[in-house]
Amino acid sequence: MNTETKNGYVLLVEDEDNLREALKLNLELEGYEITSVGDGAEALKKVNDEYYDLIILDVMLPELDGITVAENIRLQNNEVPILMLSAKSSSADRVLGLKKGADDYLTKPFNLEELLLRVKKLINKNKRLQDKETIGEVFEFGNNKVDFKAQTATNYQGKLIELSKKEIMLLKLLAENKNEVVTREKILQSVWGYNVYPTTRTIDNFILNFRKYFEEESRNPRFFHSVRGVGYKFTD
Ligand code: CA
Repeated sequence: MNTETKNGYVLLVEDEDNLREALKLNLELEGYEITSVGDGAEALKKVNDEYYDLIILDVMLPELDGITVAENIRLQNNEVPILMLSAKSSSADRVLGLKKGADDYLTKPFNLEELLLRVKKLINKNKRLQDKETIGEVFEFGNNKVDFKAQTATNYQGKLIELSKKEIMLLKLLAENKNEVVTREKILQSVWGYNVYPTTRTIDNFILNFRKYFEEESRNPRFFHSVRGVGYKFTD
């Protein structure tokens, strides 16, 4: 499966079978990859295991309700956008949902078109936030020069290096966040993306390769630093 063609990864939490299936189908038609579950506990498990661009969360769920689920997600410092769905239409409930971490709120019965617009808006807003400052096509550090577009680099020894797509993505991510620690979680989400998590060992191997390519002393790195238990940092 080519994950890069998807418009976004959505977790759909809804206990009414018919509504869940209808929403899933319509969201898939819009190009989203949908994981759907019918209860709150299962939703929390999914959120812990996998990355999503958006969660569509029904409030009235068996056992663990949607408000509690949203609260738990936020307690884990997970900022995934949440669109809450509820049959309750009083403004007090809406306020409670928003207070507990929902980004948007839709009252049932809702118009499908409106739901799709809100989904799109929330996902795009989140992507814009994740994109941060963009750097140019050519990026130089020390005596190394990376051409993001050509996916090549010339290192300090004048050696031409062909870079893989993931190497380019990781280099770019680290460069865009220069002097800041980029967490493993963020790297996995941004570079590997979505539902297929490699082991953290994989990232380590990428960093080791970067050091081999670009560091004069790979055992005493100047550019690519590991921050134990947290992530990685690029400095120049
Ligand atoms: Ca329900």
